[in-house]
Order: sequence, then structure tokens, then C-alpha cells
Amino acid sequence: MADMLALTFDAAHTDWDASTGMVLEHVPRPTLSSGQDRSCVIVKVRFAGFCGTDRGIWWRKAMGDMVLGSLKGEGGTKRVFGHEMLGEIVEVGDKAATKYGYAPGDVVSTESHIVCGACYQCRRGEQHVCANEKIIGVSMDGCFAEYVKLPAKALWRTDTSRIRPEIAAVQEPFGNAVHACQVTDLRGQSVAILGTGTIGLFAVLVAKGMGARQVIGIEPDAGRRAQALQLGADHVFAPAMPDRQRPHAPDPELRGAIEAVTDGVGVDVAMEMSGFNSSLNSAIQITRRGGHVVLFGLKNGDAVITDFHRVIMNGLQLHGVVGRRIFQTWEMTRGLLENTSNGIQQAIWEVILNGGDQAIVDLQGFEPVAFEGVMERFTKPVIRVA
Ligand SMILES: [Zn+2]
Ligand SMILES: [Zn+2]
Repeated sequence: MADMLALTFDAAHTDWDASTGMVLEHVPRPTLSSGQDRSCVIVKVRFAGFCGTDRGIWWRKAMGDMVLGSLKGEGGTKRVFGHEMLGEIVEVGDKAATKYGYAPGDVVSTESHIVCGACYQCRRGEQHVCANEKIIGVSMDGCFAEYVKLPAKALWRTDTSRIRPEIAAVQEPFGNAVHACQVTDLRGQSVAILGTGTIGLFAVLVAKGMGARQVIGIEPDAGRRAQALQLGADHVFAPAMPDRQRPHAPDPELRGAIEAVTDGVGVDVAMEMSGFNSSLNSAIQITRRGGHVVLFGLKNGDAVITDFHRVIMNGLQLHGVVGRRIFQTWEMTRGLLENTSNGIQQAIWEVILNGGDQAIVDLQGFEPVAFEGVMERFTKPVIRVA
């Protein structure tokens, strides 16, 4: 059987909690058999994005239950990671060809959430909150590999003459920002983004692209604040260090700083993208009466809401946001990226992907220690597979 290079974890000889990282090794190439594989394709991966979820996997801070639980369900021990990609179809199941029209040579990206199509949400057209979803590179094998098997229904055709391949590979996380920015109409609005990691930086671009009047970045890291400004943020603020006694408490200075740039009103929309409890409370505190708080940053376990009455008495709307609308978000994503007059593609390439310099790493010869350095220096590493 032909094999391929992949970044993996193997429960047979590695303890999840006692290990870190991903192992570069040769594994069998995926093949199409009969049954469900008739609706699948094999994609030869060109570029794959490495995101916060992958960092969580790398440092074993997230996804352990899903990885180990899904392996147990499959009766296997090895998982190939990676869920953001651009590649070329090389093999097509007969139903993937007749029902979806895919053929070898087609260039595709993919939705990373594989939805069931049968649960209550799916039947109501809300696939992004499917009750039975699987996630590529977490609960099924992913794209940090030369080849990946994917269901045709998750694929998204991509025109690489309009979207640069390295950027096309990160449509999925860019789509997270698009989805978060579609929660409410941002035209003419004042928007604060708390936490300008990759998705927060994307959100700066998207909010501007969708017509926000003012975008404010709130971020502790000076380098990322500078990036937010480069991408078009009107103001950036560094949050105060969390209070040791009350680590969940909001930044006491922030409301005043925001009032100073919003005519004393507060922002129309605050997007919490860091996952810190203090930031959640800051987001609530800086939002104007009747405004929206979009919650995207993930946190396990309990969170404390300070000043809870403020949520009710100010008539705030809190929204939990996950994934992307399938495929409405992808349509909008394509529109924003293919429209070169908005400068979004160029900004992603120059500012977030550093013009390709050092932020893009080859799978061939992948070296974990060197890659940890790349993770430290760049918010969005991209793996060049072929
Ligand atoms: Zn991701
Ligand atoms: Zn479903």
C-alpha cells in the first residue's frame, strides 16, 4: 500500500497528557472503498493552515477528549491532524462525481465541520450547529498530510487565479471572523475586538470590509496591536493586567478609554475573541445600551459575569458564535477575498502571513522544535505540503 507523510498522534505508544506536539511519520495513504466513500474524494493537499485549535492539540490543552474518544469509536489509535487546507482532487467516488460534479484536477478548500444532515438543526438549515458533527483533523483524519479523504458535501471550490493559494488555505478561519461579523449588521457601527490573535485580526479586516464605521482593537501583545493598526483598526488599547484577587473582573480603565473615542456612548458591538473571563466582562462593560456582545473566544469550565444586572438593564444581546454558516459564510468569504479592491487579500498576505517569509513551513522535513519557534513568532503558520 502506498504511504505518505503526515503529522500524527498515536495513542498506542504515546500518552496524550504526558506528551506534546505532533509526529512527522509515514502512514498509509487514504483510499476510497465502497459504501460511504462513494460520496468522498481524495485530495492532494497543497497548503494547510495551523490554528489555535492545533496549538491546543500541540500543547494538549484542548481537544484531547474528542481525539481520544473518536479513536476509541473507530477502534484505531492514530490520528492525522489538520483541518484548514487547499488542495487538488486526485480521486473521486462515483457519487461525489455524479451528485456534486467533482472531477480530478478540481481545486478545493473544505468546511472543517462534517455535519450529519439528519439532526434537528441540520433539517432546519442550521448545519453550523449540527448535533452530530465531526471535525476534520480532530475526530477524523485531517490535512497535515500529503493526501486527505473528504466528503464531497464539505468541499468548497476555489479559484486560485483569484485567491492566492496560501490565503485560500485559510478561508476556514477567515470564515470564523466573517461568521462573527455577520451576527449583526456592522454597517456604520462602532466595533471593538477584544483579542487580536489571528481570528481577531481577520475580524478587523472583515468588519472594515463590511462597512463598520470604527474598529477598536484591545490586545495585550504590542506586536499584535501594531498589526491591528496596520490592518485598519482606528484605535488600539492594551488591557490592564487582570486583578490577582478577582481575575475575572473587567479592566477598570477600559470603559473610560472607549467612551473617549465613542462620544461617551460605548461601542455598538463588542467581539470577545480571547477567551479570558476578564475580557468577557470588559466586552460587556464597553458595549452601549442595546448593543451586541459576540462571544467567540473559548474557555473551558465556569465563567463569572460581573455586574450581571448590566446585561439585563442595558438590554444587551449576547451571541455565542461557532464555526461558519454552511455555506452562506463561505459565499461571503469568497466575495471579500476575491474583491481585490478592498485590499483584504494583500493585507492578509503582507501582515498576517508575513509575505510568506518564515510563516510558511514545509511538511517535508518538519522539525517540531523549529516549528515551536515559528508558532511563537507568527499568529498564523501555514504548512506547505506540495
Ligand atoms: Zn482552525
Ligand atoms: Zn446534524
